[in-house]
Amino acid sequence: MIIEPKIRNAVCLNAHPEGCKKNVDRQIHITEHDGKKSITAPIDAPKQVLVIGCSNGYGLASRITAAFAYGSDTIGVSYEKAPTERKTGTPGWYHNAAFDAAAKTAALSAHTIHGDAFSDAIKAEVIDTARAKDIQFDLVIYSIASPARIDPETGVMYKSVIKPIGTAFSGETLDPLSGKILPISIPPADEQEIADTVKVMGGEDWHRWISQLYEAGALAKNCLTVAYSYIGPAVTYPLYRDGTIGRAKEHLEQEAAAITTTMQGISGRAFVSINKGVVTRASAVIPAFPLYLSALTRVLKDRGTHEGCIEQINRLFSSRLYRADGKIPTDEKNRIRIDNYELAADVQQETERLMTAFIQGQPEGQIDISDYRHEFLASCGFDIAGVDYN
Ligand code: NAD
Repeated sequence: MIIEPKIRNAVCLNAHPEGCKKNVDRQIHITEHDGKKSITAPIDAPKQVLVIGCSNGYGLASRITAAFAYGSDTIGVSYEKAPTERKTGTPGWYHNAAFDAAAKTAALSAHTIHGDAFSDAIKAEVIDTARAKDIQFDLVIYSIASPARIDPETGVMYKSVIKPIGTAFSGETLDPLSGKILPISIPPADEQEIADTVKVMGGEDWHRWISQLYEAGALAKNCLTVAYSYIGPAVTYPLYRDGTIGRAKEHLEQEAAAITTTMQGISGRAFVSINKGVVTRASAVIPAFPLYLSALTRVLKDRGTHEGCIEQINRLFSSRLYRADGKIPTDEKNRIRIDNYELAADVQQETERLMTAFIQGQPEGQIDISDYRHEFLASCGFDIAGVDYN
């Protein structure tokens, strides 16, 4: 069967199984060869890890890092679709299958649960699985990006939106497939849309997970839990940090302190890690990102500090979460910062210069968008070297 990418509105609707397997194999390879070298504190390594949102992007990279750099047993939760007679499965379906197979070959315990992480039923399934395996988690990664959430208490569905707050946004966005600059204009969110986005992408569900795991005795002493967030540069503020998603991320970041309090009986700690911008299924739908990430990638590659999900998470574990001195460095708001290469002043200056030149059609503004296009297609298993797509 020949599978070609089907793309609508910056979303790839299908996936290539063989390419997805190669995505996982590549990340395992990087972790085993480069990631492991930077480990300085193997004794404090995570042993039993739960990854909520394990199938793509940062969650997949976290599960691979925990398993293949530190030898952890992992339980992963994600919401992915299996293939049918007429349709391929979602990329995450194949990523999970490839991860499970690789973990088995490496004699690592791995258990993958498919279902809605926002539901109490899936939380109960994770707790039952942990009990059956007689394990307590010492690390819980929360890496969900979702357009909707059903509140398990009321049954009401909330939808998140990507909109500015206060004033409309007008600007340019890059269509990564055609390479054309297109004008965009997005009206400001109303109060209901802001509240609904916080309900989906804020910290409520993260806290619910940790409370239920804690009460069930499924968390080990000194357990860490980490959720992922993004700040980015001023150029993306109107649509991201100062917009609806940014409001949800502020809620997530504030919830960390309350979650630490929930876990005080086991001296657990909750952190938010501010990660760098990368091309994933979640970020591809944010209008300002394709142009910004294309320019940023070129600048970081020129400086030798470019990282994809796996390099970033390898570094998060070795240089922030599990250091030889046992300390977890944070900023003044108690957030872990692993976005330091991205936000370096000279990197941002050059990125902005490239973006402006590109929008104005200047020759020196020739951003190479093939990297972005590749990352976008590769996240669904396409455009990967060594796969015979014919
Ligand atoms: P992604 O789209 O690649 O992965 C999202 C994951 O969430 C998938 O595993 C998916 O199955 C899972 N998921 C979604 N809804 C679910 C549900 N109801 N139940 C179970 N699983 C569900 O996204 P990503 O870009 O890796 O984002 C993960 C986190 O990292 C998000 O919180 C995001 O804000 C944050 N982050 C992303 C970037 C970036 O540039 N992509 C930067 C910094 C932080």
